[in-house]
Amino acid sequence: MSGANPQAAEAAPEPKNFLARRVGGTLVKRRLPRQRACNEPGKKDICAGHIKRWYGFGPELVELYGGDPEIYRCERCQVLYRPNEEEIARTGTLAY
Ligand SMILES: [Zn+2]
Repeated sequence: MSGANPQAAEAAPEPKNFLARRVGGTLVKRRLPRQRACNEPGKKDICAGHIKRWYGFGPELVELYGGDPEIYRCERCQVLYRPNEEEIARTGTLAY
């Protein structure tokens, strides 16, 4: 009649070592620091498409990441990217 519920962690936020998850069939990856080209494996080599800020997300991503999520998308293979946490920290509170 005691002990933690193991299912309580089900809705945990992205872990620090988050790499990729699928949202409605779309792959969402974490960007590497200063990453500007897609590193998704392609037929011969990596995709290398440009990663651009993207606003065409649906309600699933808004639910996961908030009302104005920072989402990027590869213009070639359409894999989605989340910003890198280190880059967020650098532009924020320590910016002087
Ligand atoms: Zn790509």
